[in-house]
Parts: sequence; C-alpha cells; structure tokens
Amino acid sequence: MVLMCSVRSCKTKHTKNSDIKFHKFPKNEELRSKWLLAINNESWFVPSQHSVVCSKHFDMSDYETNALGNKKLKIAAIPKSTIIRRSLLEGTSSFKRQQ
Ligand SMILES: [Zn+2]
Repeated sequence: MVLMCSVRSCKTKHTKNSDIKFHKFPKNEELRSKWLLAINNESWFVPSQHSVVCSKHFDMSDYETNALGNKKLKIAAIPKSTIIRRSLLEGTSSFKRQQ
C-alpha cells in the first residue's frame, strides 16, 4: 500500500527517491489526540493503524540520534501545523489544490 501523509493540506506520498520519512500515529491516547489537534484535519478523521504523518511536519529537534547513528522521532514529538507556511518559505510550487 502507498504511504500518504494524513495531513489534509499536505498529502505527501511516499516515493522511492525521497528522503521524507513517514511516522505512524502514536498508540498513546493522549499523544494521539495532540497529533490530531496539531494536524487540524476534519473532525471525522480517525487515524487507522496505517495512517502516517510525514517528516515535513517535524523539526530537527523532534528527532534524536540513536547509538547506531540513525535518526529517530522522539516519543513525545508532536507534528507542527506549518506545512503551508513552510512550503511558501521554501518557494516550492508543488503544493497543489487537489481533492
Ligand atoms: Zn505531510
């Protein structure tokens, strides 16, 4: 199955050559509800076990490097809802209005 970001205004898809990472929703109820608030989706949105949020919504400080030198999302990290602003700053035109 194709991984696609759950953030309504993002919808980044997983592609082979991208270095974007996809993170599943946390199992912890409290953290999960914080994620939902942060990504500001429609109220009917309920994340499934396959729902993911892409790494565009996290800062470098949300990651920690483990003993093997791999970057890992911190357990308490919460996505930022700055995807639109960020893409404007970067001057990308890849943000398309698709439904
Ligand atoms: Zn995304």
